[in-house]
Amino acid sequence: MISTEELLDTIKGDVLLGESMKEHTSLRIGGSADFFVNPLDPEDLCRTISLFESRNLPFTLIGRGTNLLVHDDGVRGAVILTKRALGSYSIKKNAVTAGAGVSLAMLADKTFSALLGGIEMLQGIPGTLGGAVIMNAGAYGQEIGDAVTWVEVYDKGKSRVIPASDIEFGYRKSSLEGYTVLGSGLKLKKLAGAALEKRSSMRSDAFEKRAASQPLYLPNAGSIFRNPVMSGDNSSGLTAGQMIDACGLKGLRKGGAMISEEHANIIINTGEATASDVLELVSHTTDRVWKMFGVLLELEIKLLGFEKTLC
Ligand SMILES: Cc1cc2nc3c(=O)[nH]c(=O)nc-3n(C[C@H](O)[C@H](O)[C@H](O)COP(=O)(O)OP(=O)(O)OC[C@H]3O[C@@H](n4cnc5c(N)ncnc54)[C@H](O)[C@@H]3O)c2cc1C
Repeated sequence: MISTEELLDTIKGDVLLGESMKEHTSLRIGGSADFFVNPLDPEDLCRTISLFESRNLPFTLIGRGTNLLVHDDGVRGAVILTKRALGSYSIKKNAVTAGAGVSLAMLADKTFSALLGGIEMLQGIPGTLGGAVIMNAGAYGQEIGDAVTWVEVYDKGKSRVIPASDIEFGYRKSSLEGYTVLGSGLKLKKLAGAALEKRSSMRSDAFEKRAASQPLYLPNAGSIFRNPVMSGDNSSGLTAGQMIDACGLKGLRKGGAMISEEHANIIINTGEATASDVLELVSHTTDRVWKMFGVLLELEIKLLGFEKTLC
């Protein structure tokens, strides 16, 4: 057990009791976290983890909550926000050093403005560097893992640097799952002349494509399912979205959750959706795609507050 007094004495940043996770996820869904902690700096964040570890209480780091579905009954233990504590970065020549809480979109913009290529196509991903590194986020032919040179993790009370050569990055996954990521180093390439112009025009195209094909103005968590075509277990060659569309599921509603009319692999919260509504849609979709294509869709979003065996 931890008393409120002890928490307030140990942690310099903000500690909220029973904070609704709706405020901290792009889907705007989820019950309350027992303890919601926004540490002040890296030391404060490590001290928070260490306190929860010492009492054998669960804790979870979150970035911007853009790849998360949080249980309607909330999250036990601590939810620890990285945005402030791990929010600093530096760009020197073609090397970037950044905290896990740094916005990926901002980093993609800043590095491209510094005429550096390697993560410029990730501009439309609304999460943090930490969330991106853990799941090897990617878009339009680029993945963050290709630029990573090292990752700093918190491990058994200390920070430790893992070189990229010891990390496996795959399609929307990495061997870092389960680690607490504090920051990362990236190596980018100097861009000039025709290469720079080409990347600039590809960025504009990607921006327009995203705006035209995704419900950016409604609460969602990006792609709900991994693309089986990328994992090599789908001979039809169709994406998850194309299969869901072929099953005629666009626009399908369960409670306040709806399969987007614009992009079949996105579920939107139309107002008062619950996590149960989203999971009902997930279950219905998985069933229909299995029956029509013999392909078992897997979740890309991460579940928080659920038993691991639920999905
Ligand atoms: C409109 C929209 C578009 C999107 N487009 C894309 C896209 O094109 N490509 C793509 O790959 N993704 C996309 N996403 C999904 C999402 O933005 C990415 O997965 C992003 O990398 C998640 O970062 P986050 O900080 O929001 O992570 P969160 O959602 O906060 O967390 C995701 C998972 O990572 C863990 N985590 C986060 N930070 C840390 C840390 N420091 N240490 C340990 N664990 C951590 C969390 O516990 C959780 O399990 C999109 C999402 C939205 C809403």
